[in-house]
Amino acid sequence: MKALKERILRDGKCFEGGILKVDNFINHQMDPILMKSMAVEFVRRFASTDINKIITVEASGIAPAIMVGYLLELPVVFAKKKTPSTMEHMLATKVFSFTKQRSYDVCVSSDYLCKGDKVLFIDDFLANGNAAKGILELVEQAGAELVGMGFLIEKAFQHGGDELRQMGIHVESLAIIESLDNCEIKIKDDGYDR
Ligand code: 5GP
Repeated sequence: MKALKERILRDGKCFEGGILKVDNFINHQMDPILMKSMAVEFVRRFASTDINKIITVEASGIAPAIMVGYLLELPVVFAKKKTPSTMEHMLATKVFSFTKQRSYDVCVSSDYLCKGDKVLFIDDFLANGNAAKGILELVEQAGAELVGMGFLIEKAFQHGGDELRQMGIHVESLAIIESLDNCEIKIKDDGYDR
């Protein structure tokens, strides 16, 4: 997506270890106009998909997910990273965090992720795909169906996207980063210039 790619090149910052910082418009300060445009693009790319619920992981997935949910008029559920003592009918799994280099639990109540749901997963970044695989595990535990995954930014050099696509999952990423070597942002030409 052209506007996102341009914004990444303008305001994105590279950090050691292949981390892209987009705190100026996604992860700390947020640009709601760009967020809305990105959600519109997800709606377009998943137009032929039967979806009844959006799922994400707290915290940075919530903003794009709720924009998509708003446009599609569908409920949005976020998996929690801390296990609330009050959660009923909890489904849980472990996810390894690439940015924090440690594992954490993610959980969701089966009151909100239910058998028969057709869920679209939305998140800010796709790197190694651990968060995505954790969500897939929760969706399977619930007896729901994962119908697609949409990411604002995919880092192709970490290959999570390859794995998910090989699993037959419909994955859409609005900007694909080819490399962050030498702290230079190289974005893949994916043929989308809208
Ligand atoms: P994965 O589970 O695919 O390895 O990593 C995805 C998660 O890690 C995302 O939910 C995101 O929060 C975080 N993440 C991975 N790479 C980056 C990055 O380069 N920049 C930022 N800001 N977050 C990242």
